[in-house]
Amino acid sequence: MVDAVVVEALAVRTPSGQAQVRLLPPPTVSCELARAISLWLDTSLQPLARGAFTRELTALRVGGGHECRRRNRQTQGQLSEHATGRALDIFAFQIGDEKQGGVAVSVERPNGLEQVRFLDAVRQSACGAFMTVLGPGSDAAHANHLHVDIQQRRAASSRFCQ
Ligand SMILES: [Zn+2]
Repeated sequence: MVDAVVVEALAVRTPSGQAQVRLLPPPTVSCELARAISLWLDTSLQPLARGAFTRELTALRVGGGHECRRRNRQTQGQLSEHATGRALDIFAFQIGDEKQGGVAVSVERPNGLEQVRFLDAVRQSACGAFMTVLGPGSDAAHANHLHVDIQQRRAASSRFCQ
C-alpha cells in the first residue's frame, strides 16, 4: 500500500472552534481515503450529530477491515477495497463524552427513532462523499456496519449506494 497513514483523529470545525473526532481503533488507510473521511466528518457528520443530538461527534468505532477483506467473505474472487486501504467499516458513532451522558449510536442496533433517523441521514450523506456505501439491508456481510470506500468505478457516475 502506498502513502498509507494511521488515522487516530481528524479535526472538525465546531461552533466553538475546532474539535477532534477520534477513530477507534486507529485504522490504516490511504491518504486519499483519509482526506475523503476528513471532509465527510467536517461537512456532513458533525453537523448531523449536532442537529440530531445537540452534541458533538467525538469518535467513530471502526473496523480493521478483516470483516470484508474479500468481498462478502468469499474465499475466492476480487479483493475488496480494504486490501488497498481505500475502504473503512464503521460500527458505531460516539456522540458526546461517554462519561458525561454521551451516547454511542450502533449501526446494527440503533436505539430509538432519533438514532434511526440519524443513521439514515448519515448513510445518505455518505453516498455523496464516497463511491460505495453498504450497510444493514445491503447484504448479510454488512448487517452490523457501514462500509464506505473510494474505489474508482469505470464510469464516474456509477456510484454504488445501497
Ligand atoms: Zn467493508
